[in-house]
Amino acid sequence: MNAEIIAVGSELLLGQITNTNAKFISSQLSELGINVFYHTVVGDNSKRLDEAITVAESRADCLIFSGGLGPTKDDLTKETIARHLGVDLAFDEVALTYIKEFFARRGRAMTDNNRKQALVLEGSDVLANHHGMAPGMILTKNGRTYILLPGPPKELEPMFQFEAKPKLVALLNTDGVISSHVMRFYGIGEAELEDRVQDILDAQTNPTVAPLASDGEVTLRVTAKAETESEAQRLIAAKVAEIQAIVGDYQYGMDDDSLASKTVEMLLDNELTISAAESLTAGLFQSELAEIPGVGGSLIGGVVTYTEGSKVKQLGISQELLDTHGIVSSECASAMASAVRTKFNTNIGIGLTGAAGPTAHDHQPVGTVWIGIAINDEEPITYLLHLSGMRNTNRLRAVKFTCHYLMQ
Ligand code: ATP
Ligand code: MG
Repeated sequence: MNAEIIAVGSELLLGQITNTNAKFISSQLSELGINVFYHTVVGDNSKRLDEAITVAESRADCLIFSGGLGPTKDDLTKETIARHLGVDLAFDEVALTYIKEFFARRGRAMTDNNRKQALVLEGSDVLANHHGMAPGMILTKNGRTYILLPGPPKELEPMFQFEAKPKLVALLNTDGVISSHVMRFYGIGEAELEDRVQDILDAQTNPTVAPLASDGEVTLRVTAKAETESEAQRLIAAKVAEIQAIVGDYQYGMDDDSLASKTVEMLLDNELTISAAESLTAGLFQSELAEIPGVGGSLIGGVVTYTEGSKVKQLGISQELLDTHGIVSSECASAMASAVRTKFNTNIGIGLTGAAGPTAHDHQPVGTVWIGIAINDEEPITYLLHLSGMRNTNRLRAVKFTCHYLMQ
């Protein structure tokens, strides 16, 4: 099955909102192993929407619409599709009752426009909207599937996940399952990873393997179709092992793992405590760790020492060291790591300093980052990174590198 996503809304064309619905639906479909070949965006205009449907029907088996199910004049997705398919609209009693109750609860009068929201395509399965009033729909006609979803993401996302997806899966293969797992890599670029597993990518049928890169990490999603869940898991495990034999050295986790979660896991498993002194990252390292429940058993505290003065005052780093080597230096990162470790009496102390950008800092080019890692009483280790991203990307990359170093 291949799908086309048609986002309806003039605000999208005017640049007032971003088409996050298409992004969301696409990522959901890729988990199901459904190919999305086109994203279409069309304004609130019945004629152009009708044309877009005709084009989409010429190249997709499944058309997924977002937006235009509301009560106002410019909401015309349902009506246009009904006309296009020669299908009538009829009131859905469940949706109508829900809308009536919605108004009754708020003590507000219901208008005819609101009633209109309970109109659905005849013969369709209604998708309940638990976060708004307009119900969604799924309809199969002439061998194609049409799915209509409301525009607001907080309505569309749960409706897709809990209402539409199970029906889509049932349509996809009536007597089978689709499962997928994500392999997570760090320290290898997308191009190199793809190059190294090229044979697997070329030969893929079932399971399929889909690469994705973001924020210095690369993932491979392995999706299998099978008659039973255990058979799907067996197929995935075999493919994962095949990939690991080639690039396993770079894999740090699976599925919901993150660099931070694996770092926290390592710290807790080894009963290690940690503290950090952060300059360019200004608390981001600690914040990333703090996203992981249970980190309190390990993360004791830290300081943000953004200026030269605060490094001297809060950490007791000598002015002479800073004058001699500069703030963005191995010596400074090392001194920060040692000082914070002593201050908080932890096993590990981290020092992060650098020039995040957009301009050079302390005579160091943008992207220069020094990371100091002090472990117990050993002499601190330092790492130099040359990052090439924008300011906040560089800050995040510095944190990720630190986590990755620690988890090993
Ligand atoms: P409503 O009942 O709220 O009118 P609707 O189904 O008619 O819902 P629209 O009127 O098209 O949907 O859009 C409502 C709001 O949903 C938009 O103002 C926007 O905030 C959000 N929205 C619509 N389409 C998208 C999209 N493709 N991506 C992200 N947000 C969207
Ligand atoms: Mg609307």
